[in-house]
Amino acid sequence: MPETNVPEDDAIRCDACPVLCHIRPGRTGACDRYGNNDGQLVRLDPHVVLDHALTRGDSVVPFLGRGQEWDGNIVSGPETFITAIGAGTTYPDYKPAPFIISSEVQGVDMVTVVTEGIFSYCGVKVKIDTDRHLGPETKLVRARGEPVGHVTTSEYGSQMLSLGGVRHLTGGSRGEGAVTCETLLNLCNRKPVELTVDDGATLRVEAGKPPVVDGAQEERMRVGCGSATIGMFAKQWFGKVDEVVVVDDHITGVLSEHQAGKLLGVPRTGIKMKGRRSTPGRYFRVAEPGTAWGGTNLEDPLSILLGFNPKIAWPRLRLLMVSTTGEHHAYFELDDSLRPVEKDLPSALSESVARIQENCEPALCTVLFMGGAGGSLRSGVTENPVKLTQSVKVALTRVTCGGAPVYVWPGGGITFMVDVTRMPENAFGYVPTPALVAPIEFTLKLSDYGVLGGHIDHVRQLSSMAPPGGRRHLSAHPDNPWPLAPAKLPRTGP
Ligand code: SF4
Repeated sequence: MPETNVPEDDAIRCDACPVLCHIRPGRTGACDRYGNNDGQLVRLDPHVVLDHALTRGDSVVPFLGRGQEWDGNIVSGPETFITAIGAGTTYPDYKPAPFIISSEVQGVDMVTVVTEGIFSYCGVKVKIDTDRHLGPETKLVRARGEPVGHVTTSEYGSQMLSLGGVRHLTGGSRGEGAVTCETLLNLCNRKPVELTVDDGATLRVEAGKPPVVDGAQEERMRVGCGSATIGMFAKQWFGKVDEVVVVDDHITGVLSEHQAGKLLGVPRTGIKMKGRRSTPGRYFRVAEPGTAWGGTNLEDPLSILLGFNPKIAWPRLRLLMVSTTGEHHAYFELDDSLRPVEKDLPSALSESVARIQENCEPALCTVLFMGGAGGSLRSGVTENPVKLTQSVKVALTRVTCGGAPVYVWPGGGITFMVDVTRMPENAFGYVPTPALVAPIEFTLKLSDYGVLGGHIDHVRQLSSMAPPGGRRHLSAHPDNPWPLAPAKLPRTGP
C-alpha cells in the first residue's frame, strides 16, 4: 500500500516532490517510485543507460533486468548515454540534478545533466489517422467521464486531440486532475486509453497502434483528399469509366470537371453535385461529417448527386464512386432515364480501387508528449536559469527525453515535444500533486557548462555513482540520432 504524508516514528520522509511522503520500512511512497529500504530512501526503478554498441540493428531490449546491478565497469564515453529514466528527482528545484555525468567524445569533455522532471503543465498532442469524424472541433474529450482535453483542428487526413495541460491537471476538480494525469501517463507509456468525445465518437487510442473508432479498427490512412485522389489516379480511370466521384468530407473530387480529367480529355458527363463548388471538380461540404463514406455521414453515396443534365449525359454512362481510402466504393450505370443503377464493379476498376488502398499508409495513433523545461527545473542544471534557455536556443545544449530527440519550440521557455514511441518503454511516472514525471537530459560541452553557471562541483563519472535500484542497459531506438554522435555535437560557444 502506498504511504501518505502522515508521519510515522520509523518512517522516513521522501523529499523528491512537494507531496513529501513519510514512508515506513518496506513500503513505497504515493507515486510508487520511491521506497524505504532498511531506512534508506531509494528510487525503486533501475536507472536506464543506453548503449550505442547494442543499438545498431537492434530494437530497444532490456539487457539487465530490474534489481540486477550494473557491473560498475562502465565509464561514460561516446558509446554510453545516461538517460534520466530512473535517475530520480531533486526538490526543491535549486538542488543540483540527481546525475551530472561527465563523458569524453572525440577528445571533447562533455557533460550530461539528467533529472526526472515533474511536469504540472504538460500535455499530449494525439494524431489519429482516420477519415472518420471524431467530433466537432473544441468539443471536450473525456476519460472515465472526466474532461481531459478537446478536439482540435483536423489536418491532412488525421484528426487531432489536445489533451492535458494545466487547466485540466490543476484547474478543475480533484477527480479531473487525477484522471487527466492517469490518461496522460497511460498514453505516454504506450498503454491503451478509452476516450469519448462529447457529441462524437468513442475511441481507443494507443501510441503506435491503429485507432479504434466506435468499435471499428481503422486500417488505412486516406491517400489524400478527394481532389488529390482524382489527380493521382485519373490516368488509371481514363477510358475505363466515364465519371468518377471521390467522396470526401473535406474536398470531394469529380473526374470530368477536374483539371486532371480535362487535361486527359475526359468528356463532360452533365453530373450535378450537392455541396459548394470551390473550383472545377472540387466540392466542399457535400454532406455532414460522420463515420461513413469518406468521413461523411453518407450511407448512400448517390444522395450527394443532384442528377445528370439530360442534354449532356447518356444512357449506360459508367460512374464509379469511391472513398479516399477505397474502403467504400460502388459502380453504377445510367438507365434510359439517366438514373444510376448499381452494378458489379468491373475488374478493370477493381484494380484502381485496390491501387487506392495500396497507396494508403497504415492508420496509427501518434502521441507527442509536450513538456516545458523553461521553469524552475533549470535550477537543477545551472544557478542562472536563463542561461540554460539561451544555450538551448543557440544549440549549445542538446535536449533529449529518455535519449530521444525533441523538438524545441521557438519563442520563450524550453517547450518541447517528443514522440513517445521513440523513448524506452515505461519512461514516464507521476506524482499525485497531480503531475507527470518525465525524463529530461541536457548535454553540452563541459566548458560551456561552466560558462552558463552549471553545478560544476557535482559533475561525476558514472562509474562513481551506484543508484540503489541498479542500472538497466538498453540499446537505443534505432531510428534515433545518437545523442552523443560527433556530427550532432553542439557547436562551440562564442
Ligand atoms: S509522491 Fe513519490 S516523489 Fe513525491 S514525496 Fe511521495 S514518494 Fe516521494
